[in-house]
Amino acid sequence: MVQTENTAIVLRHVNYRDNDRMVTLFSPSRGRIDAVIRNCRKPKSHNLNAGELFALGDYMLYESGGHVTVTSVHLIETFYRLRQDYERLTCGTYVLSLAEAVIEPEQERQELFMLLLHTLSRLAFSDQPWRPLLAGFLLHFAACEGFKPRLNHCVFCGQRIGEDGTGFFDVEEGGVCCADCHQKGMRPGMPESRKQERLTPQEYRWMRTALQRGSAEWVETPDSHAPFSLLRKYVEGRLGRRIRSASVLPEK
Ligand SMILES: [Zn+2]
Repeated sequence: MVQTENTAIVLRHVNYRDNDRMVTLFSPSRGRIDAVIRNCRKPKSHNLNAGELFALGDYMLYESGGHVTVTSVHLIETFYRLRQDYERLTCGTYVLSLAEAVIEPEQERQELFMLLLHTLSRLAFSDQPWRPLLAGFLLHFAACEGFKPRLNHCVFCGQRIGEDGTGFFDVEEGGVCCADCHQKGMRPGMPESRKQERLTPQEYRWMRTALQRGSAEWVETPDSHAPFSLLRKYVEGRLGRRIRSASVLPEK
């Protein structure tokens, strides 16, 4: 048996027995930790908020025989304000689901953890519109996971792409496509899934700027051109799963 303290955030929970809850914690130093919080659903439990989604805290864990139990929690932030706005709550749940889709046990994930906290803080405590926040999250999430979209050269022929972009993004190849290659791709008989998404010059510049500014600063970029739906399609395509929580968000 081992007792350790871990800073972590709750990504997911499932009620268990009468008063317990299973939680999936995300720790920047240890990745995914599945643990039980006993009695946290009793009205007077001092761990009442520790098992809620978005609960960020220092979790004292007791580990024995492959089972992990939360013994106490010092809460740092609950992101409670997210619960006062349905759309922002949906966005918050969406970013938790994306993180949960990629983290593994005993894996250090500092960069992804910080990206998640930056995004949740801005969703909860700033007035910034959610669309560029999510688009920025998706873009940097892709970079963290090793599939940063290719924006400087055509994904098919390698031709350098100018400042204004090309007008096309190939979701399967993960990057921009030049006009020539787009034309070739439009041949009859090409499967529908291979068709490229339109990308305006503004959207193209938005992505380049957001990537250049890094994961802590991307929100300074003008928001009206953030290609959220395109990035969602791209990232979820790479993960091989559709995350339904975001489906209620308006596309435009
Ligand atoms: Zn090309």
